[in-house]
Amino acid sequence: MPSETAHKTICKTVCQYSGSPLSDEDMKKLLAIAADYRTVKNYVYQRYGGIRSLSKLYPGYTVQNEMTASGFRAQLGLPSVYFYLAVFDALGDIKSQWTRTKSSVKKAVGQNNNFTEEEKHYLRFLLKTNDAFEGILMNLPPGDWKLPMQIRRRYDELAGQLTEDGIIEKLHSYLRRKVRKYHVKPHSDAADGFFSSRGTHRYGDHGIYITTKEQRKRIFIPLTDSNEYKSQIFVKLFPEEHKAELRAAIQTAVRFHPDYVNQVGISLGMSAMLTTHEGHVYGEKLGFYQDGFSDWMREQVGKYNANRHTEPGRKKYNATKRRLKERLHSYINMELNHFLREEKPRTIYLPKLPPPKGSGAVKKINYSASMWQRGYIRERLEQKCREQSITLIKVYAKDISRQCSRCGAPGHQEKGNFCCPACGFHADIKTNAAQNAKKRGQDKSPPPCTSITDMK
Ligand SMILES: [Zn+2]
Repeated sequence: MPSETAHKTICKTVCQYSGSPLSDEDMKKLLAIAADYRTVKNYVYQRYGGIRSLSKLYPGYTVQNEMTASGFRAQLGLPSVYFYLAVFDALGDIKSQWTRTKSSVKKAVGQNNNFTEEEKHYLRFLLKTNDAFEGILMNLPPGDWKLPMQIRRRYDELAGQLTEDGIIEKLHSYLRRKVRKYHVKPHSDAADGFFSSRGTHRYGDHGIYITTKEQRKRIFIPLTDSNEYKSQIFVKLFPEEHKAELRAAIQTAVRFHPDYVNQVGISLGMSAMLTTHEGHVYGEKLGFYQDGFSDWMREQVGKYNANRHTEPGRKKYNATKRRLKERLHSYINMELNHFLREEKPRTIYLPKLPPPKGSGAVKKINYSASMWQRGYIRERLEQKCREQSITLIKVYAKDISRQCSRCGAPGHQEKGNFCCPACGFHADIKTNAAQNAKKRGQDKSPPPCTSITDMK
């Protein structure tokens, strides 16, 4: 019901664009902020990205105080708002890196056949309990970890199940070893943007004023729309094109359409973007746009290599690439919206993404371009579903185009059609796959265990 979703919000990234070309001088000032911003981030990565700094990351005040005391800000001459935005931006990256490290270790634990189930439980507990995890990395004995009463009891329980002599110390040193193996300090090479907040920018006059390193001097960037966002914005610079893009993460209300009641199976493709279980096609021209982009990319490989040292060559390449990409993306978004409006889905059933397959050298360029679009289409569909309270269910995709959606038997493909030798069913390949997606999504039984991969 609408009442359930009325107050729900969702995070969404919106973009704003510079309306007229930025002068070289203004761009230089913006790039100077971006360069300092990167320097601060790399400093924070270097100083707090390592294993020994883990305990300083939460809640972050220690880092903030130490960074203030470092005198680094004055040395750079960077306005303090930018400085602290860079510090917290970098801390966010360090925390994400810790999440990745822990998940790699967790995976290694799961795959290690030398551990008993109790040992795995114990290790997983350590990975998800911050204070225990920190204690181990700092070589503290378990008695010295700062665990809340209830967690302490749980720990004692798990440790009590490990009876082998010296096993606990063995597991702790395993954990330390794996963390050292997987943990890396983040590093940033790009100096093409920075976060800005209301302390460093102000909207007005159909554009935005941005604080620079020179005292009281602001740069004005005219914008193509007059929206004003209260959140932090990321200012992304495109110096070769004299452009800037502002990215804001905003909270928008989740929409709910009472008339969206349908159960829709879909299949995605690279020539026709999306086919429903009823055979409706959206994004028929995707292949056309995609080919244009791929042909151009392939053509550029040689040219770009030859011209990569010339400034105009590189400029033209980047500008054209961006234009083609934007054209493709706006087409994809338009067609996804069209699909949702027409089909009014309550639930969408989509085959999971199959793993990438190898291909030849020439195909590879084509393939990587389409691979990348495939990710984009899925990402956008997921986001639009979240925004409009539509349930998206990803179904088991193995052999989804080879199985007959009417009787379940393996079939074969003939000139874009699916044919079932068992029951005589004929349908467009994509429509058949979309029907299977719907069927598999609604069917609660486990996937078939007989493989029909080898059928042609
Ligand atoms: Zn059949």
